[in-house]
Amino acid sequence: MDTKDTRDARGMGHMKERIFRRGGHGSHESAENEQQAAPSKFKPEPRAAADDANSSAIIVPCPNCKEPLYVKELENNLHVCPKCGAHLRLNARQRLTYTVDEGSFAEWDTNIHPTDPLGFAIGNDRYDAKLDASRKKTAESEAMITGRGTINGEPVVIAIADFTFMGATMGSVYGEKLTRAAERAIRERLPLVTFNASGGARMQEGLFSLMQMAKTTAAVARLGDAGLPHIAVLTDPCYGGVTASYATVADVLLAEPGARIGFAGKTLIEQNMRQKLPDDVQTAEFQLKHGMIDEVVHRRDLRQTLGTLLALYGTPRTMIAPLSGGDTLESTPTPDEIAIPVLSAAHA
Ligand SMILES: [Zn+2]
Repeated sequence: MDTKDTRDARGMGHMKERIFRRGGHGSHESAENEQQAAPSKFKPEPRAAADDANSSAIIVPCPNCKEPLYVKELENNLHVCPKCGAHLRLNARQRLTYTVDEGSFAEWDTNIHPTDPLGFAIGNDRYDAKLDASRKKTAESEAMITGRGTINGEPVVIAIADFTFMGATMGSVYGEKLTRAAERAIRERLPLVTFNASGGARMQEGLFSLMQMAKTTAAVARLGDAGLPHIAVLTDPCYGGVTASYATVADVLLAEPGARIGFAGKTLIEQNMRQKLPDDVQTAEFQLKHGMIDEVVHRRDLRQTLGTLLALYGTPRTMIAPLSGGDTLESTPTPDEIAIPVLSAAHA
């Protein structure tokens, strides 16, 4: 029984250790961590099989136009409905396949696993059981995948939220992995590209989850201080604490067509405001029209668009400074210690 008293007795120091429990190799936090990729309130709508990246069906109805689609055909079309153009959801591995240059991705921090710091349960619905079920369903250990790779030949740090893992809610490990990715991007003088989809904060981690909003936003702000770009791609659906933190303070904000982007869901806003909102509110196209994002990009053009943006930002590859004193988080230079990159002609 996990009473309040026993929880208090553990102390905050132990709490952090439990949240960031590491795998069998202890606290390797550096390049040794790097491994090749191995195999809110917002309530998402029930998904059709076509929109379930982990479905094993052969023919599925499009969640938008309802037309029957061969899964093979969908795969060949980057999971975009050939009939109506709806962009179906991808899991993190599919996103990697479609966006990152083949064989270039090296995954980081695969040995950090979420735990259940609060012993959270509603009736028989326990957080630790949900984590176990999500791990089995997705073969991922968390909803955030990070690493280094190239996009159209441009070296980049990549962070991908996987909506199939507990709705990509942002908990402690999600935030920690993203923060480490931004810190390593600074050390290695690389831009950061994030692919974002989320139902918001992970309520089962309470305050620890909410803290990630400040933590991740501070991490990408330090990236900006170091003169390195953050390009965020908002995918369906992107809500809650992720939209309200690191994902929307990027230098360039792209979104996939039809992606729903907001903080609270439309129905909740209508109930509180007591007024009807436009049908297309919170779509990527609506957000573009109202200046929240910079461009809506079709999935087939995303790799090229990202490659072009990264080239224009002129990642200063010739200025990649060798690390001194070991590649550890503690050795992360402060922004003041990092040479400001030479701006490309695009910025002159
Ligand atoms: Zn369709």
